[in-house]
Amino acid sequence: MSDRDTRHQQAMQKLKSRVDEKITQATEQRGLLLVFTGNGKGKTTAAWGTVTRALGYGYRVGVVQFIKGLWECGERERLAKDSNLEVAIMATGFTWDTQDREADTRACQAVWADAQRMLGDPGVYLVVLDEITYMLKFGYLNIQVVKKALEERPAEQTVIITGRNAHRELIAMADTVTEMQEVRHAFNSGLQARRGIDF
Ligand code: ATP
Ligand code: MG
Repeated sequence: MSDRDTRHQQAMQKLKSRVDEKITQATEQRGLLLVFTGNGKGKTTAAWGTVTRALGYGYRVGVVQFIKGLWECGERERLAKDSNLEVAIMATGFTWDTQDREADTRACQAVWADAQRMLGDPGVYLVVLDEITYMLKFGYLNIQVVKKALEERPAEQTVIITGRNAHRELIAMADTVTEMQEVRHAFNSGLQARRGIDF
């Protein structure tokens, strides 16, 4: 064996023992709270990827789409046929150009009621609250109300929160937080959002 091979083998052995140690230490089993935030692309895609993963095992999944509800969404098209998936959509399809705070708040509260029902149902294995961070930012939803619903959810239920600028209290209570970092985005070079890729 060459020096390099020996060093590689030793490094791998070390890595294996460290990973094995972590595996023995990870004994707790319960649902998780995940936050996908940051300015880079991939937050909603990652959430739908996890939805697909859970549906693949036959678990029930709830997705609540705040903000972009009326927009096209390829994953929703594809997965809607699965009777284990429920998608709740914010009725007005809030966008940046809506100016009516009162109507937006009502629409937000209405879809939040669906979210609360899902968060109270032990039969729902995974709940996605897509773009909910903006609802908190604009004050359409109260952080304490959201925190309470998350804290009181069934122990086995996992929740994914997506959106930029996640509230610090959500970050503080989450088990896993991933910040998508924008290195570059095609949009800034004048490229249009692409069907089947961006939505
Ligand atoms: P995706 O849905 O592609 O996973 P995302 O959820 O991380 O993206 P959002 O902030 O929800 O990002 O953006 C929604 C739309 O804007 C998508 O079409 C997405 O591709 C696009 N987008 C994402 N990040 C950026 C960015 N940094 N600049 C411009 N457009 C972006
Ligand atoms: Mg998104």
